[in-house]
Amino acid sequence: MSFLIKKPSILIITLICLSFFSFNLKAVQDISFDKQLKNADRIRSSNPNKFNEIVTSLLQQKSSLTHDQILHLSYLNAYRLTYKGQFDDGILLFLKIADSDASSLLKIRANISLVNIYAISKKWTKGLSSLSKTIELIPSIESQEIRQLAIASAVLFYNQLGQYELGLSFANKLLHEPIEGRTLCVAHNLKLESQFELGLLKEGDPQILEGIEACQQSNEVVMESAIYSYLAELHLKNTNPQKAILALEENLQAIEQSRYAPIVALYYSLLAKSYFQIESDAIAEDYAQKTIQQTKNIANSKPEVSSYKVLYQIAESRGEHQQALEYHKKYAEADRAYLDDIKTKHLAFQLAEHQTTEQKSRIELLDKQNNLLTIEQKLSAIKAENNRLFIAMLIAIITLLVFWAYKSWMTQKRLKQLAEYDALTGILNRGHFTQVAQSALKYCANTDMYLSCILFDLDKFKNINDSYGHACGDWVLKKVAKVCQAQGRKNDIFARLGGEEFCIVLPSCDLVTATKLAEEYRKVIERIDSADSGFDFTVSASFGVTDTLRSGHALEKLIADADEAMYESKHNGRNRITVYSVPTEDADSDKNTAANSGGAQADQPLFTGS
Ligand code: GH3
Ligand code: MG
Ligand code: MG
Repeated sequence: MSFLIKKPSILIITLICLSFFSFNLKAVQDISFDKQLKNADRIRSSNPNKFNEIVTSLLQQKSSLTHDQILHLSYLNAYRLTYKGQFDDGILLFLKIADSDASSLLKIRANISLVNIYAISKKWTKGLSSLSKTIELIPSIESQEIRQLAIASAVLFYNQLGQYELGLSFANKLLHEPIEGRTLCVAHNLKLESQFELGLLKEGDPQILEGIEACQQSNEVVMESAIYSYLAELHLKNTNPQKAILALEENLQAIEQSRYAPIVALYYSLLAKSYFQIESDAIAEDYAQKTIQQTKNIANSKPEVSSYKVLYQIAESRGEHQQALEYHKKYAEADRAYLDDIKTKHLAFQLAEHQTTEQKSRIELLDKQNNLLTIEQKLSAIKAENNRLFIAMLIAIITLLVFWAYKSWMTQKRLKQLAEYDALTGILNRGHFTQVAQSALKYCANTDMYLSCILFDLDKFKNINDSYGHACGDWVLKKVAKVCQAQGRKNDIFARLGGEEFCIVLPSCDLVTATKLAEEYRKVIERIDSADSGFDFTVSASFGVTDTLRSGHALEKLIADADEAMYESKHNGRNRITVYSVPTEDADSDKNTAANSGGAQADQPLFTGS
């Protein structure tokens, strides 16, 4: 611990060095594993011992490998197991890779291997399943070599299965690839095989020569011989056994040396057939026997069937009936087995096709359901969008309507204000006052109620205007309206009749009360402090008061009488109240005026008349 504290820098450097070293070690290991895997892959068929050694060694270090490296190793191990004859273990590993998250390249390689293993073991249904996976992966494969290998596996598998039309179409695909050497020979051979089996090949077809040349160039004896076998069969079909014998015997030695039993057997059987046709029974019998020897380890082969047939026919022609019967039995047995084999292949193919069709229609159904769902989703999305738009539009329209209603309400209010109220003082104007006062008069007339009217005019107002300006005059008018409004009762109808003349109609108010109220008004006007206007002056008004008992219920008359009384106040010295007196014949001499220039006597107004 003390070391750690005393020498921290050494510790840190050591740790950094160690981590750097381990990081580098890991990177170096990864590269080394990759190299080993690639090397093993490259030599897998050319040097099986070394390949086996590398794979075994890597399997022991599996825990140090990356995920991708483990998958690659699994593929090589599967190949190793298959090579050793452990087909089941190999198949299991290949299947795991085919269904894993490995690269397309590794997956297709595993599937190709499976196709080949299943073809050898005649597991047609499984082979078809792996083949369809292989074909699916072909478009995603960049490696030309692997793509060509995949196509070649398809041709080979389909031809072995007896599906020559499919074989032919893939063979054509393969020939469109930039191929050469052995692959070109394989492609030609397989295409010719498909065409031959489909009855599309003619004796003089130039493709036969092309195929032979391609195989000669790559020194592929077995495949070259296979092409010659198709030619020989064509000669035989065209009842030209001599030519067939020529084509076959030319290659017989080479094919015998190759020891490739299926082709050797095919050659012997075709020779047997040919010699039988030219009635060289002894040679034919010899080749037929040789065929049977060759096909001992090959189950259900066509050469075996045809050779037993030749043998039985020869025996029969010789009159060896017992022998002929024996051979016929064997012929029938081999033929049945061969036909059974073909049937099995057809059945496997039909089953696979049926499964594919079923799967396709299931996928189509799912696709349709998906499309329907997508359309439904789109439709509901459009509906939701439309709803949103509709709601937004509705909100916009409502907002507009509310705004428009508010605007027109405000305009109406403003217009009403302008039409009914005096712009300067804010109290009723003459027009509206007339309406309201007339209604009040009507109501009071109907209900036998008192109604009084006070009218006043500011004294010497022109002087204020002239001395202090029009603005000061306006200030006075507003102030008078304000103090009078504050003084007034709730039901009083207060208006500016024009200029500096005001009127107050007081429903349910008798003359005595009205006169007292007029005195209140007079006082509040008199008390106006002009200081706020910036000038020093006094304000007063002259009042005229009347009521319906004296002036009747016609508004014009009521105002006119109050006006008359008001003028009397002016006449008598202003700033006073005069109650209207109904003129009598000797009225003029009898008028009573409540007058007080300072308003001192206004509390006891004098009434003119009764
Ligand atoms: P009197 O005591 O006899 O009533 O004298 P007066 O000066 O008040 O009467 P007059 O009729 O000679 O003058 C009224 C003045 O009121 C004349 C006019 O210019 C002024 N006036 C009328 N309307 C307005 C207004 O709205 N604003 C202002 N500032 N003055 C107004
Ligand atoms: Mg005046
Ligand atoms: Mg006036």
